[in-house]
Amino acid sequence: MQQTKYFIIDFDSTFTQVEALDVLAEIALKDNENQAKAIQEIKDITDQGMEGGMSFRESLKRRVKILQANKKHLPELVDRLSSLVSPSFKRNTEFIEKYKEQIFIVSNGFKDFIVPIVKKHGIKEEHVFANEFKYDNSENIVGFNEDNILSSNNGKPRQIENLKLNGEVFVLGDGYTDYEIKKAGLAHKFYAFTENVRREKILDEADHEAPSLDEFLFTQKLERAHSYPKNRIKALLLENIHEGAVNKLKQEGYQVEVHPAGMTEDELAEAIKDVSVLGIRSKTQVTEKVLKNAKRLLAVGAFCIGTNQIDLKAALHKGVAVFNAPFSNTRSVVELALAEIIMLMRNLPDKIMQMHQGKWNKSASGSFEIRGKTLGIIGYGKIGSQLSVLAESVGMNVQYFDLEEKLALGNANPCPTLEHLLQSSDVISVHVDGREENKWMIGSKEFDLMKDGVVFINLSRGHIVDIEALRKNIERGKIHGASVDVFPEEPLSNDHPFESPLMGLRNTILTPHVGGSTLEAQENIADFVPSKIIEYINTGSTTNSVNFPNITLPTLSQAHRFIHIHRNEPGILADINNILAKHGINIGGQYLKTNDTIGYVITDIDKNYQEDVIKDLKLVRGTIRFRVLY
Ligand code: NAD
Repeated sequence: MQQTKYFIIDFDSTFTQVEALDVLAEIALKDNENQAKAIQEIKDITDQGMEGGMSFRESLKRRVKILQANKKHLPELVDRLSSLVSPSFKRNTEFIEKYKEQIFIVSNGFKDFIVPIVKKHGIKEEHVFANEFKYDNSENIVGFNEDNILSSNNGKPRQIENLKLNGEVFVLGDGYTDYEIKKAGLAHKFYAFTENVRREKILDEADHEAPSLDEFLFTQKLERAHSYPKNRIKALLLENIHEGAVNKLKQEGYQVEVHPAGMTEDELAEAIKDVSVLGIRSKTQVTEKVLKNAKRLLAVGAFCIGTNQIDLKAALHKGVAVFNAPFSNTRSVVELALAEIIMLMRNLPDKIMQMHQGKWNKSASGSFEIRGKTLGIIGYGKIGSQLSVLAESVGMNVQYFDLEEKLALGNANPCPTLEHLLQSSDVISVHVDGREENKWMIGSKEFDLMKDGVVFINLSRGHIVDIEALRKNIERGKIHGASVDVFPEEPLSNDHPFESPLMGLRNTILTPHVGGSTLEAQENIADFVPSKIIEYINTGSTTNSVNFPNITLPTLSQAHRFIHIHRNEPGILADINNILAKHGINIGGQYLKTNDTIGYVITDIDKNYQEDVIKDLKLVRGTIRFRVLY
């Protein structure tokens, strides 16, 4: 027969995120000029006690003395600690409710404030074992009840012994006094709880590390709020990804490993084995060979715009969703384009150069306002359409040409043909994507069609413009000024030299592919990509995924979600539903989307079902991946 399980839970830095006496010191010593020093002293004594470096009673005596607290400080303490209950305790209400007869709070802290806090979370008052303050006539806290077992050294084991628990005892805590229970042979297992503090010395003694209550509940197969503990999700971030992304993934509870550089294929194929989330920028190649080893990989985040460094098909076959940041730097490119239109219309590059050479050339010749001029935008996508809005707001007339039907923003006009746009624009800015067919789409023929004195800008992709033809047209004066940020051949790194036929030309701005390179864009990317990945892991939504069918799912409540990724073959949805029917499962909602390669089926079902349905679903033909979410 299965033994009853008992759960002994510590309070300070376990049930709550902080040490209560530190907070009480902050409150009680608010107006004391030595507050900072006193708080530090209390913290130091707590740490020494926690790591077993000072006898417990001694540590308690010293701390209470420094505190100078009064009963009137306790309501504020309770309020503050209530808002600092550890998140994993807050969310696992189902566990507390179900096992309230078997859960005990055993703490070296004080009942005076512990009881009102834990009671609100469903823990029984008579299951709280802790010290009690002693007050004088003016309600000053002057000591503690020395008859209470918990005020003595080795108090926790003695308290547990008194409880005479008949079953398996599990201890969850962050300090040495929690480990003492196991050491005394009174606990089956000691879990070092590290959601709030991590004490290496305690970890050495522990049977397990529990970075959250979820981990404990997962290993014990108990009722829990999360199907899979987030601390088990390892994220590997390469190529110096912005720290905003690192923090966001850490806050979500993932283990995050960071590498400043990229990795070779072989290095990554090795490192990827236990990784669930991979973050890269443009240099790391995520090849079929890498993906073959990626047994636990759920998602790849490209912290950039392009994704051709990733084998998207191979990722699909593995059921790995890929996300990028398609518009995080849109605004940055648009601002640069607008600035360059003004610079070139005013002939500024030449004037700036002359000034640096000591030449004062005050003249209006060749300088124009942009107001009232016609801007022709080729490619009215994210960047093109944003530029349209900004350019119009500074007084330009905007027209555009796009292969697809696009909504004209503001007063912009669509052009019927590219030729029409080329022939009638004063400024031409290219913002098409880098598809193969766009190679050299602007060459001699197109330049010939343009107005004399046109300003030409390419911030899109290097291979789109025939660079020799551009050079000739700048040299012969057909083009008044040009800006180029992207080149057919770009140096591999800042250490490699740059060469181009455009170097040294008049009124020509050359920039090193920095259209989207601003700190704001980096921050946007660092926020956007992890958000999409976290959403995918938590809900199954694939909004903005580059390779998965895009589907935005409702949030889950009171249900379990089955996520099934399979090869796109006819009849699989029917197979899935037959299995659900065979197991008598009631479907709350079902969503299906496919692309050429995979089918993505999400089924929300009632929480009460027999686990063997999962086994059957994993055996459906064509299954690539299956996971359960709640
Ligand atoms: P997008 O995909 O949103 O827009 C591209 C648009 O071009 C689409 O509307 C598409 O229909 C249109 N298009 C494609 N081929 C066309 C053609 N032959 N004729 C007319 N229209 C065509 O892309 P986006 O985010 O706006 O980016 C635009 C370009 O800017 C891309 O090439 C991108 O790589 C580049 N970019 C450069 C930088 C930089 O640092 N310089 C930064 C970001 C993006």
